[in-house]
Amino acid sequence: MAKYRVRIDPRDNCISDMVCVSICPDVFEMNPDDNKTQIVAKYREGDNVAVGIVPEDLGSCVQDAANACPVQIIHVEKIE
Ligand code: SF4
Repeated sequence: MAKYRVRIDPRDNCISDMVCVSICPDVFEMNPDDNKTQIVAKYREGDNVAVGIVPEDLGSCVQDAANACPVQIIHVEKIE
């Protein structure tokens, strides 16, 4: 089954409009400390809140979020 690596980079450029969170709440959430988006703990890769691995059934959702992000900082790469 395919998996996708999702990166929020550069995360500092997030303008906190929550577009990705509305489109794909299973993967993206707002960090209450800095008010920027992050990958939910379930799909995070290691300690980096800006990198995650998601299963195939969430691929279209993260891609839609990447396409809709107004500052284009969400990157999706198929890894398997
Ligand atoms: S859509 Fe982009 S700018 Fe908006 S919250 Fe998500 S990462 Fe940040």
